[in-house]
Amino acid sequence: MNILVLNVGSSSLKFQLMDTDAERMKENTDRRLARGQIERIGGEAVWSFRAGDAAPVKGSAPLKDHRAAVEYLLAWIVADDSDVEIHSLAEIGAAGHRVVHGGEHFVHSVAIDDAVMRGIEETIELAPLHNPANLKGVQAVKAVLGPAVPQVAVFDTAFHHTLPERAFLYAIPYSLYRRHRVRRYGFHGTSHRYVAYRWRQITGTPREAQKIITLHLGNGCSACAIRGGESIDTSMGFTPLEGLVMGTRSGDLDPALLDYIAEKEGLNLAGVETLLNKQSGLLGISGLTNDMRELLAEAEEHDDRRAWLAIEIFCYRVRKYIGSYLAAMGGADAICFAGGIGENAPAVRAMICEEMEWAGIKLDPAANHACNGVEARISAEGAKPEVWVIPTDEELLIARDTFRVINGLETRY
Ligand code: ADP
Repeated sequence: MNILVLNVGSSSLKFQLMDTDAERMKENTDRRLARGQIERIGGEAVWSFRAGDAAPVKGSAPLKDHRAAVEYLLAWIVADDSDVEIHSLAEIGAAGHRVVHGGEHFVHSVAIDDAVMRGIEETIELAPLHNPANLKGVQAVKAVLGPAVPQVAVFDTAFHHTLPERAFLYAIPYSLYRRHRVRRYGFHGTSHRYVAYRWRQITGTPREAQKIITLHLGNGCSACAIRGGESIDTSMGFTPLEGLVMGTRSGDLDPALLDYIAEKEGLNLAGVETLLNKQSGLLGISGLTNDMRELLAEAEEHDDRRAWLAIEIFCYRVRKYIGSYLAAMGGADAICFAGGIGENAPAVRAMICEEMEWAGIKLDPAANHACNGVEARISAEGAKPEVWVIPTDEELLIARDTFRVINGLETRY
C-alpha cells in the first residue's frame, strides 16, 4: 500500500511516499517511492522533491497555505515527468502524520477521526507551536485526497508513555501534575523506538531482554533509556527544551536563571524562553552557528576557542546522561547513536565516549571513523556496552504504523 507520510510544521512540510504492507514489513522490503520538503509556505514557497533515489529537483511556487502545499506535492508525485511510480491519487491508500504531542491521552498511534482531532486540539496548550500545524496537515490531506482516505496520527510523545512516575514527575507540588498535567513527556519517541527496534532486529535480541541507551543527536537532541523494549527515562521533559545541549536550545539549567536573565536583560518570560530555545545551545556558546558540521570545521580550521567549547559542553552533557542511564538501568548492553550528528560525526562520538572505559565503553577508532550514516558497531571487539550507529528512520515507522492501525494490527513490534 502506498502511504503518504507527512511531518507538517507551521510554514514547512516534509513528506515521504512509502510502499509498505504486512509482507514487506516481514521481509524488510518497504520501498521509498518519493520524498521531499516544502519551506516558506504562505508566500513564495521553496520546494525540493526526489523520486526514489534520483537527484532532487528544486523550485519555488506561490503556495498560500498547507492545503495548497499538499495539492502541489501530490500533483508533482502523479505527474508523468516526476518519475514517481504512481500516476493517480487513487493509488495513495492512506496518510500517516507525525504529531508532536499526544499528551497523556494518546499512548500509541491512532486512526484519525473527529474525536482524535478534538483530542489533538486539546493538547495544543502543551505544544502551541507544533500541534496546530499537524492539524492543518490532516485537514489539507482530507481536502485534497478526500475523507475516505484513512489518516493515522503517530505521536512523538507516545513511546515515552511507559516512563514510571519516578522518571516523569518533577519534584514540585504534586497538585501541579493533577491540575495542569505538569510532568515530563519526552519527545523524539518515534526515532528512539525505531532505533531500539532496529537494534533488536540486527542483533537478534528479544524485546524483553533489551537494555540500551539511544542517543538522537540532530538539531534537537535527546537520550533515552530503554529496558524491555520500553522507554523508562528520557532527557526531554515537559517541552523539548530539557536535557541535552542542542543546536539552539540550552537543555538543562537552573530554573532560577529565568527570573535573573529576565531582569538583567530587560526581557519578559516569553523573551527568556525564546533566548533559551533559539539563541542558546551550540549557537549560544560558540556565537557562530547551531550547525555541528560548520562548528567542527571552524574548530579544526581556525582552532576557534568557543567553537571547541561548544562541542566540548555538548559532548560532556551527553556523557553525563549516558552515565545517569547506566545507573538508572544497572548497566546497558549497547549505546546507539542516531540523528544528523550521531550518524555522521565520528569526532563527536569519540569525544562523547572518551574516558568511559571505567564503564566498559571503548570505541574501535577505525570503525568509528569509517562509519558515516550507515548501520555499524563501532565499539572495540568484546567491549560492553557495545556502541552502535543506527541511522534513524521515523518515516518508516510512521508508514508501518499507518498500515497496521488501519488494518487493525498491533503497533507494538
Ligand atoms: P533534525 O533534528 O532537524 O532532523 P538532523 O538530524 O538532520 O536534524 O541533524 C542536523 C545536525 O546534524 C546539524 O547540526 C548538522 O550539522 C549535523 N550533521 C549533519 N551531517 C554532519 C556531518 N557530516 N558532520 C557533523 N555534523 C553533521
